[in-house]
Amino acid sequence: MLVVTKFGGSSLSCATQFAKVKKIVLSDAKRKIVVVSALGKRDSSDTKITDLLYILHAHLKFGVPYMDIWNMICSRFIEIKKELQLDYDVESELSSLYKELNKTISEDYLVSRGEYFTAKLMSNYLGYQFVDAKDLISFSYDGKVDYALTEKRVRLAFSEYGTIVVPGFYGSYPNGSVKLLSRGGSDVTGSILSKCLMVSLYENWTDVPGILTADPRIISNPKAIREITYAELRELSYMGANVLHEETVFPVQSLNIPINLKSTNDPDNPGTFIKNVCEDTSSTVTGLAGKIDFISFNIFKNHMSNEIGFLRKALTIFEKFNVSIEHIPSGIDSFSVVVPLSSVEKCKYEIITELKQELKAEVTVDEDIALVAVVGRNMVNKSGLCGAIFQTMGEEKINVKLLAQGPQELNIIIGISKEDYEKTIKTLYQKLLA
Ligand code: ASP
Repeated sequence: MLVVTKFGGSSLSCATQFAKVKKIVLSDAKRKIVVVSALGKRDSSDTKITDLLYILHAHLKFGVPYMDIWNMICSRFIEIKKELQLDYDVESELSSLYKELNKTISEDYLVSRGEYFTAKLMSNYLGYQFVDAKDLISFSYDGKVDYALTEKRVRLAFSEYGTIVVPGFYGSYPNGSVKLLSRGGSDVTGSILSKCLMVSLYENWTDVPGILTADPRIISNPKAIREITYAELRELSYMGANVLHEETVFPVQSLNIPINLKSTNDPDNPGTFIKNVCEDTSSTVTGLAGKIDFISFNIFKNHMSNEIGFLRKALTIFEKFNVSIEHIPSGIDSFSVVVPLSSVEKCKYEIITELKQELKAEVTVDEDIALVAVVGRNMVNKSGLCGAIFQTMGEEKINVKLLAQGPQELNIIIGISKEDYEKTIKTLYQKLLA
């Protein structure tokens, strides 16, 4: 049995956090593959190493003095080395990097050094072999992971060393140059390694004990979710729940490898399990999420329902402007197309004009739309839930502007005015999850 164990930046912010990580890793012999992010914030006023490296790159590029930032970066790594009394010579590797600093240094390469040095320190501390992600995670030039090559390399490295530490967040192109994943991408590195080694579990350690049932900025101390399916997680993350990098699930889902989210600061807490099938039926609703800033294009035309192809013609216009559609609630002679406001910022008026011209329809827009998603695998075939939702919203005098439910009955999407957004989350949390 093998486990990939990934630690986020907050689990690696200082020597004390490194010590917690060591205790966790060494307490279970299955934890043979460790993936690390770069050093995170030590407190809320601190700056993540990755952000400092991005700033350093900008300073270099625009010819602005950069020694202060460079020294801040170096001191974070050197401090950990000293406090943990490691023999890894981080100082001389940092001075080699210093010699490479110039206006044209690759941003991907420079920023990837955050994970690189963190992994080097951690491998030295754990006594595990450091394996560079650029020699494992291979991208083809179109930016996609070359799984055939990556798998071969990962398996070879693992069989050679047995216990490894790999920096997250980057890999390399066929010519060897470093390519970063998108922000938060160390989650994806862990997931890719889990797939390549077909491990039995992918552990993802952060500073919260799992996925929360609602946004903690709105609900104080929301409950954590014990079990959630990949599909539910996708619904919640898509609707704004800030959990894992959104590409984390794909590599492991096809092999049915569960992900366990846990807190480095509370390791005995079981955290959240993400898997294909969950047995727990104790709650009908798994979680709430939501986003503000949607726009609804409302299209009306008498006898629209008899005009074959009407909907297609409307959707073609959105396609032409490269706008991805969120929902299409409909009536008999009217329907709405709901999209994120940001996606039509530059083409809103063009879309309205074309809809009017092409469809000979009346078109209005409503820019005051927020969406709340009620997500739960146990909602399917359950009666009474909608009754409870709308009764409580009615009691709170919250007007429902639009509604949608996916065919799997995994989610109910409720459109409301932006000013009712927080009130809706609070009301529904009280009724469905508290
Ligand atoms: N350090 C990178 C970031 O801040 C990647 C990661 O933490 O996963 O986005």
